[in-house]
Amino acid sequence: MFKIKIFLILTLAVFCIACGDKKEQTQATSTQTEGGAKEPPKTEFLSITSGSITGIYYPLSNAISKSVANVFPELKINVESSGGSVANIKLLQNGDTDLGMVQNDIAYYAHSGTNMFEGQQFQGVRGITTLYSEIVHIIARKSSGIKSVKDLKGKRVSVGAAGSGTSLNTEMILGTYGMTFEDLGRAERVSITQATDFFKDGKIDAIFYTAGLGNAAITDISLLTDLVLIPIDQINVNYLIDSYNFYTATEFTKDAYKGVNEPVKTVAVKAMLATSTNMTNQTAYRITKALFEQTDELHKGHAKAKEFTKETALQGMSVPVHEGAMKYYKEIGLK
Ligand code: GLU
Repeated sequence: MFKIKIFLILTLAVFCIACGDKKEQTQATSTQTEGGAKEPPKTEFLSITSGSITGIYYPLSNAISKSVANVFPELKINVESSGGSVANIKLLQNGDTDLGMVQNDIAYYAHSGTNMFEGQQFQGVRGITTLYSEIVHIIARKSSGIKSVKDLKGKRVSVGAAGSGTSLNTEMILGTYGMTFEDLGRAERVSITQATDFFKDGKIDAIFYTAGLGNAAITDISLLTDLVLIPIDQINVNYLIDSYNFYTATEFTKDAYKGVNEPVKTVAVKAMLATSTNMTNQTAYRITKALFEQTDELHKGHAKAKEFTKETALQGMSVPVHEGAMKYYKEIGLK
């Protein structure tokens, strides 16, 4: 009887130990499973520097930020306004931003260490995707009598903000007419938002602005004042294309803005989303994938987003593509 009791106690004990083990194992496994599945991915705080709030860079960056967070909630992209392309490249170069909206001509000068980047080459600049056409807008008040670039001599002109890509385009365009900023009555280097106010108040006669068609600044002016779009003559368009990289010939159609009654010749460059080699491949991959795989949110966020697709992502790309973005393009069979 005693032996039986001992046997039963031992059996029970062994059984309980086994149970305990099993329970512990189960717990351990479920903690692991739960931990693996439920642990939120690490939040990554990034910034994108854009342009003036009445341009395209700024509102489009907001749309990009929202749609990336929609796909990867752990990627929080803070949007900041800035002087524009040149400022954004410098911020990338100094590690002060993670992403920047830039013109493809400016990105090229940075990567090759030419033009304004002579002596300050930035080989680490990388492309995520090119975006849409940025058109050189030259507008003048109708009452100013300005009809051609030559007529800008002696006039008060907004030539582009400090740190903008616009300012370089202005310099090059004036150059094809044998002019410099010195030939203008006054060269204002203010943001497009300020230039718009100056124009409306009659403090300046003309504005140069390299930006997507339909930007808020020029649209606003066209609705409130009588403006004319100043053409770049064909010979000057050809000269720009032949002498510099990345200019293409284009035309404003006659209904581009209120008050435009006939097609107007000009040139365009391309906007792109840039980063640097500091960005990890995983982050660049995710941003690229998010941009092209859930486009509804992005298209709702800004009309310009409809102008770029994964098929056009590498068209006009003027710097090496980030490895992480390239991984995505290879996956979808883009070369
Ligand atoms: N392309 C302009 C520049 O860098 C900025 C345009 C925009 O903000 O939409 O000068």
